[in-house]
Formats: sequence, C-alpha cells, structure tokens
Amino acid sequence: MRSVVEHQAVVAALFPAPEAVRLPTPDALGLVTMGDVHAPISLPGFDNSAMDGYAVRAAEIASATPEHPVALPVAHDIPAGRTDSLVLAPGTAHRIMTGAPLPEGADAVVPVELTDGSTSTVSITAAVEVGKHIRAAGSDILHGERALPSGTVIGASQVGLLSALGIAEVTVARRLRVVVLSTGSELVAPGTELEHGQIYESNGAMLTAAVTEAGAIARHLHFVPDDVDDFLARLDTVADDADAIITSGGVSAGAFEVVKDALSRNPDVEFVKVAMQPGMPQGCGHIAAPGGRRVPIVTLPGNPVSALVSFEVFIRPPLRAAAEMSPHRPRVHARLGSAVRSTPGKRQFLRGVIRSDDGAAPIIDPIGPPASHHLRYLAAADALIDIPPEVTELAPDDDVEVLRLG
Ligand code: AMP
Ligand code: MG
Repeated sequence: MRSVVEHQAVVAALFPAPEAVRLPTPDALGLVTMGDVHAPISLPGFDNSAMDGYAVRAAEIASATPEHPVALPVAHDIPAGRTDSLVLAPGTAHRIMTGAPLPEGADAVVPVELTDGSTSTVSITAAVEVGKHIRAAGSDILHGERALPSGTVIGASQVGLLSALGIAEVTVARRLRVVVLSTGSELVAPGTELEHGQIYESNGAMLTAAVTEAGAIARHLHFVPDDVDDFLARLDTVADDADAIITSGGVSAGAFEVVKDALSRNPDVEFVKVAMQPGMPQGCGHIAAPGGRRVPIVTLPGNPVSALVSFEVFIRPPLRAAAEMSPHRPRVHARLGSAVRSTPGKRQFLRGVIRSDDGAAPIIDPIGPPASHHLRYLAAADALIDIPPEVTELAPDDDVEVLRLG
C-alpha cells in the first residue's frame, strides 16, 4: 500500500505550476498577485482639503478668537472635482470642500464649524496651524513605491487601493478550471423522485463546492451511469477546456467499477491503495484531450466522506498551490475529548468538533463512526483528527494533531 505522503506527492506533481494572468482589478478578488505592484501615481495626487471649510493663510488668522473673529472675503468656491488651478490672493479665503484641490498660497484649512459659514465674507473664530486639515500630495503612497507585494491575496481593500491608483488590470495567478464528474447508475439528481435503490447525487455538488472554496473554477457535470463507453465519451467532451478532472466513484474492488474499468488500460493512469481511512482506493494520472493535450485526472472513491476527505488530503493542496495560495489547512495540537481506536497500518482522518478554543491546546471531540457514508457527521465537523498509521488506540486527553476546516 502507498502511504498518504507518497500519494500526495504523486497527485501534486500532476498539477501545473502557477501561471500569471492579467485580469480586470475587480475580477481578481480572492486571487493572489504575481509580481510586486508599484504605484503609477502618488496618492493623494495633489494637496487637498481634509475638511469642508475655508482655505487660508494661517498667519492671517493667527489672532482669531470667538470674541475677536477675523473676517476675510471669500474669493472662490472650490467644490471637489474642480480642475482649474486657483491662487489664494493675500487677505482672502476660498470656500473649499473635502477632497477639493488646495489653491496655491493656502497653507491651512479652517473647518466650517469654526466659522459663520458665510459665502461672501467669512468670520473665522479660531486660529489653525500651518498644514492643518491638508492632505499632502503623496502622503498615502508615493509614485513608484510598492503598493502590493507579490503574493498578496486580493480582498476588498486591495481592490480599493489598486482602483485608487488607477490600476485597471492586475497580474494574478490564474484559477484552474476543474471538471467534476460523478459516476454511478444509482444516482438521481436532487429535486426528482427516487425509486427504490436510488440515491441523490451528492458528491458532484460537494466536490464542486470544495473546488470553488479552494480557489479554482469548478464545472459540475451531470453524472454518468456505470457504463464505460458513456464515461469515456463524457471525459472526451470535457477534457478540452479543463486543467484537471476529478471523478468520484467506480474505483474500488466491486464488479462494476466504471472508472477503473475505463482507465486501467491507460498507461498514464494508475489505481492504487493508499494506507488511509477513509479513502483507500485512489487513482490518478493523465488522460489525453482530443487535441492531444494531457489533462490531469484524479479519481476519488464514491463514498461521500471518502470523496471529500480524499479531496482535502490530495487535491486541495495542489489546487491552492497553483493559485499561489497557502496550500495547507492550519494544523493544531489538541487533546482528545474521548477515546478512539484506529486500524493498524492506516492513517485515519476522523471527523471532530473543536470544543474549547481558548488555550494553546483545545479539546477535540471525535464525532460519528469511522464508516465513510456518514455525511451528517462530516457536515457537523469543523476539524479532521489526523491519526498516524502506527497508532491503534488513544485515550481521553491524549495529544492529537488536528486539521482545522473552514
Ligand atoms: P463506489 O465508489 O462507486 O463504489 O461508491 C461507493 C458508495 O458511495 C456507494 O454507496 C455509492 O452509492 C456512493 N456514491 C457514489 N457516488 C456517489 C455520489 N456521486 N453521490 C452520492 N453517493 C455516491
Ligand atoms: Mg459506483
């Protein structure tokens, strides 16, 4: 049997290295910059007012008090967006709004609250220091400075900064396009009636969601029945514009294992047993797209818990790495809330719920049986307890390593 670590390396090697793509800035949300981004302009681009008020020469109003206000004629109105260049003549004030360009000669802004608000001759009741309420050009970022380092995850604030700098396109690691294809003649789409022996198809939607959460673009295909020709025909039609294909089902030791039957003669695909629970039967390799391009394929077992745990362990890390995102879930040490047993020779990923999360070592409660069809416990879990292959029994309070999900 292959170890988890060995199979992780084999699967990871199938995925492409990060590729740079230029995208409109808003479309880069959630993606990671490749290369530093430098400021093409300074911010602010010009000295401007931080308040609604009056642009003045500070020395001219140095004596102003409520009892002895200083009166200045208002020579101009400067709303935000005015594009001409004004000069403040000595002995005058300009009424100025937040964000409006400061007139040449002005060295301070008096907030409207410290005046009578007049539009003809303003009465100013307090002195202000030189530079007060002025946003100096370049005080946020200077032309040529690094705005974002390579490896930055683009969130709302980064979209804001790039847009403020006038950067309409940004270079990021592109999202991989991943096709998810489920197999099984027992599968029926949710929303339709079930006949006896049929079940609702859940892996496709689940893996599609997992792919999306991992930062890639997922395409969820209608599932195919356990028919080799159907399956191969479907692979052919989807391979063309896919960077990777994930299948579920049809890889274990039963009589109608469609994925295995269809691909076991392909020398570029291997089916192996991995020493883990859940998720022992695995397959991976390349298939040839109609044009001859080699497309990575990872074939996951059909049991829903096996499928998602396998995705977590083998596919999520390389998908994230291709997007330049940190590939691994946070791993923490925790104390077991109750005893567990584990099959010798297999690395076990048990579902768990983190009970207390205040100290350095939280308590983790294992939930649900080890069998791989218990979706309910998977949905309730916020962590996977990672039990090494050689460990067969653990007692309450024992130290375990835990992968935090979500
Ligand atoms: P398989 O790996 O195809 O032998 O399937 C193992 C178990 O998982 C069977 O009980 C299947 O019915 C179930 N299963 C397989 N594929 C899916 C799916 N897409 N959605 C829900 N259950 C599935
Ligand atoms: Mg099946």
